[in-house]
Amino acid sequence: MENQYKGKKILVLGLAKSGEAAARLLHRLGADVTVNDGKPYEDNLQARDLQSIGLKVICGHHPIELLEEGFDMIVKNPGIPYSNPIVEKAIEQNIPVVTEVELAANISEAPIIAITGSNGKTTTTTLIYEMLKGGSREPLLAGNIGTVSCEVAEKTNEHQIMVLEVSSFQLLGTREFRPKVSVFLNLFDAHLDYHGTRKEYLHAKAKITANQTTDDYFVYNYDDSDVVKVAEVSQATLIPFSTKQVLNKGLCIKDNAICFSGQPLVDISSVVLPGEHNLENILAAIGASITMGAEIGRIKEVLSTFSGVEHRLQFVKEVEGRRFYNDSKATNILASQKALEAFEQPIVLLAGGLDRGNDFDDLIPSLKNVKALIAFGQTKEKLAKAANQAGVKTVLFANLMEDAVDLAFKHSNKEDVVLLSPACASWDQYKTFEERGKRFVEAVQSL
Ligand code: ADP
Repeated sequence: MENQYKGKKILVLGLAKSGEAAARLLHRLGADVTVNDGKPYEDNLQARDLQSIGLKVICGHHPIELLEEGFDMIVKNPGIPYSNPIVEKAIEQNIPVVTEVELAANISEAPIIAITGSNGKTTTTTLIYEMLKGGSREPLLAGNIGTVSCEVAEKTNEHQIMVLEVSSFQLLGTREFRPKVSVFLNLFDAHLDYHGTRKEYLHAKAKITANQTTDDYFVYNYDDSDVVKVAEVSQATLIPFSTKQVLNKGLCIKDNAICFSGQPLVDISSVVLPGEHNLENILAAIGASITMGAEIGRIKEVLSTFSGVEHRLQFVKEVEGRRFYNDSKATNILASQKALEAFEQPIVLLAGGLDRGNDFDDLIPSLKNVKALIAFGQTKEKLAKAANQAGVKTVLFANLMEDAVDLAFKHSNKEDVVLLSPACASWDQYKTFEERGKRFVEAVQSL
């Protein structure tokens, strides 16, 4: 394994899961590691564990004097902002500040497919992983989707391939990161609180292709003008995809078939994953996986069986002709809009959750197929107001998920869709969106 970290003095700033993994990895690679974490020493089990294996730890605050020790590099947790005084000072002193994915890319023996975008990362990453299974290279899932990427990277060999979901926060802290295949799905106005402006957000995302050359591939959304701007300056071999226009190159839809380089690959009617947005994810996934040797047969198999990642417009079950979908991951209006647009049948919608102070006017046009709303959580009154304005016939409240599902069943008919797509975060009633989705699935199972 190439090891440029041996003997280097490295500061790991911010622990959490990825910081701890990075600290342990660098220690194993023979770096001289110091860890600095905001959580006080008494409560900081992670830091104490790291200390017990020989790392230096400084906890409870971020003392600027730390930099006097002369670090060669800082590994920053993606959640720590660039306005943090240590980070600001380090950049002033030209100390490289990177995130843990940079380490992963540097030590990985396997080529990397990296996937980014505001929405659809997890779905696309999972699709690529599934499409590559059983092929010439063993795919490994890494990044936000599961195991910390540097932990996966350390164990890779050249016959494998890392399928890595990367956020803009992680990309911002990269310098030499050069995936074999990069996928850029879309750019919405998310995370502007962290990145400041849309331009800066785009700059962060654009780093996914910044070091690529003609030997590498950039799979990108031809229908998103911001993404196209990045493609225009990319040095990689371009693979565009579009659900709206017919393209001779890359992937598109023509005569109800998914086409690659103008050739039909698979009929859209055999795709089980619902939603136009998922078609974008599918085109991107085919582009990336074919480039890395996926078999057409396997791709077809995945498209005809893959019914969605858990909690993302996931098909749960059909009960007496009603089809139940769990989209608990829809924690904002945009995500719920996409989910609602995915169906032409009448919908009974379960929605509501944490109140972030916004109204739901933007959701009104997407409620046109909604025949009943079952609202819950802090935002239930606001959602009821939007539903009334949209002309939704039945609006009901329920506190418990079980009651909401019962009501939804009673107010639905054969051929209807019952959709949990809350348009809100879950923290007013649940620990996580996963817990909320599980409760929904359990309630549906016991109907
Ligand atoms: P991410 O990992 O980027 O959060 P997910 O695959 O988990 O993305 O999907 C989260 C939500 O975003 C989904 O429930 C869906 O509503 C929406 N979504 C998924 N793919 C897209 C897309 N290509 N364009 C717009 N919205 C999407």
